[in-house]
Amino acid sequence: MTTTTKQPPHVLVFPYPAQGHTLPLLDLTHQLSLHNLTITILTTPKNLPSVSPLLSLHPQIHTLVFPFPSHPLIPAGVENVQELGNSGNLPVIAASTKLYDPIVTWFKSHTNPPVAIISDFFLGWTQHLAQHLNIPGFAFYPSGAFFAGIMNYCWGNLESVKGLGVVDFVGLPRTPSFKEEHLPSSFRMYRESDPDCQLLKDSLVANKLSYGFIFNTFESLEGEYLDFLKREFGHERVYAAGPINLLSPDSTDRGIPATSSSGHVFEWLDGCPDGSVLYVCFGSQKLLNKKQMEALADALEKSMVRFIWVVKTGTAQQVEDGYGVVPDGFDDRLAGRGLVMRGWAPQVKILRHRAVGGFLSHCGWNSILEGIVAGAMILAWPMEADQFINARLLVEELGVGVAACEGAAAVPDSEELAKVIGESMSEESTGVKMKAKELKRKALEAVKEGGKSLNDLNGLIKELCKLKIQ
Ligand code: UDP
Repeated sequence: MTTTTKQPPHVLVFPYPAQGHTLPLLDLTHQLSLHNLTITILTTPKNLPSVSPLLSLHPQIHTLVFPFPSHPLIPAGVENVQELGNSGNLPVIAASTKLYDPIVTWFKSHTNPPVAIISDFFLGWTQHLAQHLNIPGFAFYPSGAFFAGIMNYCWGNLESVKGLGVVDFVGLPRTPSFKEEHLPSSFRMYRESDPDCQLLKDSLVANKLSYGFIFNTFESLEGEYLDFLKREFGHERVYAAGPINLLSPDSTDRGIPATSSSGHVFEWLDGCPDGSVLYVCFGSQKLLNKKQMEALADALEKSMVRFIWVVKTGTAQQVEDGYGVVPDGFDDRLAGRGLVMRGWAPQVKILRHRAVGGFLSHCGWNSILEGIVAGAMILAWPMEADQFINARLLVEELGVGVAACEGAAAVPDSEELAKVIGESMSEESTGVKMKAKELKRKALEAVKEGGKSLNDLNGLIKELCKLKIQ
């Protein structure tokens, strides 16, 4: 497969339409484009704006825009999981498979068709497509290697794992055990009789056909699990290029523009002592219910800690039901010590402010990486998806986080949560905070010249440059 052509290799990039999946793959695409690869990004009309910032940086990147395939469970006009919540993954993956034929037609009519496809691992069906087109497919994981090991085990042992209350992951480093309710949501939602579930299963199982695997993680964070995956896959084409957004010059302003009133937040932060502020945010999708909102508000108040609490706003009906509603009088009572931000916060910028020392998080992978890079200690409240696995890695394995609460529907005991917040934020020079700072140093080192993540990225680019049209 070595090439002598002067034309740069053409790569088709296919992001999955969810904020936490799209952004890291676009960060990787940015790097590929900097190395002069010819890129086509596959997207749909309503997801095109998320690609626009990258297109302004690299006008030479092509887009391939297909109408979003219809699905009975996806309202007309909806093209992103963000508008559906986590359960929307099933219909969105099922709908995406309808793009197989249009892609083949496009590919066959192209004068310089792609020599490789890089697609999100939720779009694993593209590995069949790559085989059909006789080109290598690379599976991109915006998430971690530990999680990938757990996912592969679940899907590879579907019959024996389904129905177990606790699963022992024999073969993975230290044979971790997880309760059924803490397994990945995509696996838990599997029902044999549901055709969408069959598409989901086929898609996730097909990832093992990938020629290469790209992870948004880094050696010092998950080296042991990356080695495990290399043994599992039987080759070395497992690239850990994370934290990928750190490879870009300014990655603090990405995705949805921040809520316009965020300026005063930084003024307020400027006046706070180093490491004294707890940042509270549960990602792009999660809306807390009334009882959870009340318990969290109470805990923040009792903790006596400075905080920024990002609160998503729901639909009119959700607001009426108390979802995302901050108890009356809370903002005024806590003014000076705490700030409530409604809407979309500039998370990366806030986390990197010297005043922020802790991050109460649902442990979404992007949030975790952003927290690590900021050197913030994580207070873990995993809820669904890969979050329980991520929390285990941070709290029990690496010691850079502490357990705060657990479960999507859990209502924390406000006294207990206040105690966890107060104690962990006051701990000064030892323990968790020190380990978090050390992990930050290693993350920054990984993306520097000679660092392992930068080497892996260069290895991937080298591999892509070896490919040529069959
Ligand atoms: N995010 C943000 N502002 C917000 C909420 C979220 O910038 O108010 C970003 C956050 O920085 C992260 C992403 O949205 O990059 C959330 O991804 P994550 O994997 O943590 O969680 P998910 O939303 O997929 O559950």
